[in-house]
Amino acid sequence: QGTVVLAATPIGNTADASARLIALLERADIVAAEDTRRLYALANRLGVHVNGRVVAYHDHNERDKSDGLLDQVETGATVLVVSDAGMPTINDPGLAIVRRAIERGLPVTCAPGPSAVLDALCLSGLPTDRFCYEGFLPRKHSERVQYLRTLRSERRTIVFYETLHRIDDAMADLLDVFGPNRKMALCRELTKDFEQIRRGTIAQIRQSVIDEPPRGEMVLVVAGASEEEADAAAPTSLSIEDLAVLSI
Ligand code: SAM
Repeated sequence: QGTVVLAATPIGNTADASARLIALLERADIVAAEDTRRLYALANRLGVHVNGRVVAYHDHNERDKSDGLLDQVETGATVLVVSDAGMPTINDPGLAIVRRAIERGLPVTCAPGPSAVLDALCLSGLPTDRFCYEGFLPRKHSERVQYLRTLRSERRTIVFYETLHRIDDAMADLLDVFGPNRKMALCRELTKDFEQIRRGTIAQIRQSVIDEPPRGEMVLVVAGASEEEADAAAPTSLSIEDLAVLSI
């Protein structure tokens, strides 16, 4: 019996490729890659020859492809799953094969490595002992605001992925919903030559986005609500006794 290996790939700096990733790229029987051209480009930069069969494995086909790949695992193959950058399954393909492997009782493991979530969290300077990862915010303004409202009383540090095209609107909505004074960090181009971390209040970062629009890839890390903010944002909860008193 073989195994499925989810492997992290660099998020900008090729030197972050682990020795294990390199060995797996050389030795895996099948490499399931989000974008096969990007896989070969990475292998090229690493000076690695991919000996196994390479198949496209992305958001649109991962459900259909997983069982076929797992059939190969059953016959002894090592199937390496890689996305374009960072950890598969973190806003990237991979979860479908993990789920099916669990259902079919087949082994699945990780060759861990870079992921923008943890990189940004650690560099933000905000509490790291508890945090929540919120991925990408909804694209539509009304849905984004509604979603952010559900996070107003969240006490943990909150990590969002964001894109160049929506950063301006996202910052306006963050300011609107969380207010000007919460601390946050905008972490861009992590591990790359032009890595930049902007730290400040939501109002300051919003202004910096207007003054100097950030380019490249970015992650937003926002401080959790203080106790007072959480209390103020939480819907008032009434106990049965309170309700009984009110109804008298
Ligand atoms: N699987 C990836 C991971 O583990 O981080 C995330 C893939 S998701 C499709 C792409 C998003 O990750 C980008 O829009 C950005 O928010 C974030 N990201 C990836 N690489 C980054 C980098 N070098 N610097 C900042 N953000 C990055």
